[in-house]
Amino acid sequence: MLENRQWVTEAIGLLEAEAHRSADTPLHRFMLPREWGIDLYLKDESVHPTGSLKHRLARSLLLYGLVGGRIGPDTTLVEASSGSTAVSEAYFAQMLGLEFVAVMPASTSPDKIALIEAAGARCHLVDDPLRLYDEAEQVAAETSGYYLDQFLNAERATDWRGNNNIAESIFHQAGP
Ligand SMILES: *Cc1c(COP(=O)(O)O)cnc(C)c1O
Repeated sequence: MLENRQWVTEAIGLLEAEAHRSADTPLHRFMLPREWGIDLYLKDESVHPTGSLKHRLARSLLLYGLVGGRIGPDTTLVEASSGSTAVSEAYFAQMLGLEFVAVMPASTSPDKIALIEAAGARCHLVDDPLRLYDEAEQVAAETSGYYLDQFLNAERATDWRGNNNIAESIFHQAGP
């Protein structure tokens, strides 16, 4: 148990260090004709290390599982995703040395599957997209793993007071 606690402390440290290393994503001003009276800003979330706008969410979901005692050094992580969240979660799972299974529709683009597999994760493809969530729960049960469950946990894993969500970053960058 004590060994687990030490591992969890180190894992949280790795995720925090990753957040500190990454500069915030740029907020670009896009010029429109002045007479339109519109200020347009574009937030470029593609420059995260995983190229996915789900990079922040994935980091928060893993932190949430770690601090809740649901993720240990031998936990297999599982997610239901059409790819974008899984790409980022695979990156963080690899960083912590954890197995990761992405449960995805069989129609997921080969590019996304290749990115996830390149991070050492396994893709579990499902023919019927309506079965995605049941299959993810089943894979988690079979592996005694932890279902990250982005749709259930995003709202509680991302602190609304601002722990690096996109809105907080935009308010900060667009502020005075
Ligand atoms: C993140 C998100 C999803 C999930 O993306 P996947 O690629 O399936 O992991 C789905 N819908 C919305 C609105 C989202 O923000």
